[in-house]
Amino acid sequence: MKVQCPTCQKDVEWIASNVDRPFCSARCRLIDLGEWASGNHAIPGPSLDEALMSEQHPELEQTPPTHH
Ligand SMILES: [Zn+2]
Repeated sequence: MKVQCPTCQKDVEWIASNVDRPFCSARCRLIDLGEWASGNHAIPGPSLDEALMSEQHPELEQTPPTHH
């Protein structure tokens, strides 16, 4: 029996020796747990707002380019 890794969609053998099933690896398992823990599955993070805010610093845009 095969399942798909919820993190990377890779085919994973559903066998007792695969302790990370349904994930393909411990790495994918930890990634998924981390996303659930930080709420990324349900709520968009603040990173978009922070990106928009960081673009609104006119002093950065007015910095003259470095001439060589
Ligand atoms: Zn995976």
